[in-house]
Amino acid sequence: SEEILNVQSLKKYFVIKKGFLQRTAGYVKAVDDVNFYIREGETFGLVGESGCGKTTLGRCVLRAIEPSEGVTLFRDRDGKMKDLNGLDSKELRRFRRDIQLIFQDPYSSLNPRMTVENIVGEPLVCNGMASGEALRERVKELVEMVGLSSRHLERYPHAFSGGQRQRIGIARALATNPRFIVCDEAVSALDVSVQAQILNLLRDLQKRLGLSYLFISHDLGVIQHISDRVGVMYVGRMVETAKTDDLFKQPKHPYTEALLSAKPIPDPRKKAARIVLSGEVANPANPPSGCYFHPRCQYAQDVCRKKKPEWREVGPDHFVACHLADELTLQGAVKS
Ligand code: SF4
Repeated sequence: SEEILNVQSLKKYFVIKKGFLQRTAGYVKAVDDVNFYIREGETFGLVGESGCGKTTLGRCVLRAIEPSEGVTLFRDRDGKMKDLNGLDSKELRRFRRDIQLIFQDPYSSLNPRMTVENIVGEPLVCNGMASGEALRERVKELVEMVGLSSRHLERYPHAFSGGQRQRIGIARALATNPRFIVCDEAVSALDVSVQAQILNLLRDLQKRLGLSYLFISHDLGVIQHISDRVGVMYVGRMVETAKTDDLFKQPKHPYTEALLSAKPIPDPRKKAARIVLSGEVANPANPPSGCYFHPRCQYAQDVCRKKKPEWREVGPDHFVACHLADELTLQGAVKS
């Protein structure tokens, strides 16, 4: 199917002011020249260690944070690709209905002083999309769609469990009939059994409503379970994107290989050689030269220290930024 989102050379640099300890002003390259696309009806999983820029990237796509540079093409309801970064605030407001965010923490993202009815209905009221009896009916429909009873509309968030609260958050995100949802660590705060329920709910809703997801998580197991394709970030840069199976079986970037080898593997007989990364994660305020991964990469050569690897296609739907991608045979994840 067609792309709903196509992100090109997206950058977000935060300025660090000259201060007491910092003699010169500088930048933190939180998102550094990122490229990827998401097709309609697809889940694109975004994975990487905490602080790698995945949350900032998600926010930049929504323009909840203004990107510094780059293009974010989004397909509108008429099928035309529009650059969200070129829209003025009025046009953007119209697009915002189409693009929603589900947060990590269902405990802090819901206003404790609002009833479920008001929480779920608020986006509809704010966008002037419904009022009175129609509003109440739509809220009921949304709450039932996420598997909650519409008898509890007068209750406050504290009366619900973590999983139920995340369902309320999802109902709220669906209120404006969006086509694209950024799920930022949407199940990370939940117990494993509840996680599975919420992931299944997100899948069902995707099929039913034709949604596309950008699913951000540090948890490789969750990413593998939910994603059609996966992107791996390292220090603000996308280092690899591929179909989920390809990425887990035949990674092409040494950082992906290391990440997969660190995944806990329940069956000890099938244990793969674990790659222990030496050295610290690079500092995005003062990143290394060339490939940001070179100080920790066991395959690094001279060219890696000197030149930034280009983002290139190495197979169908498989992109990677590594000088040696064609030469290396890397180890995939071992199935548990
Ligand atoms: Fe390692 Fe070089 Fe590839 Fe970077 S470009 S991941 S340092 S081999």
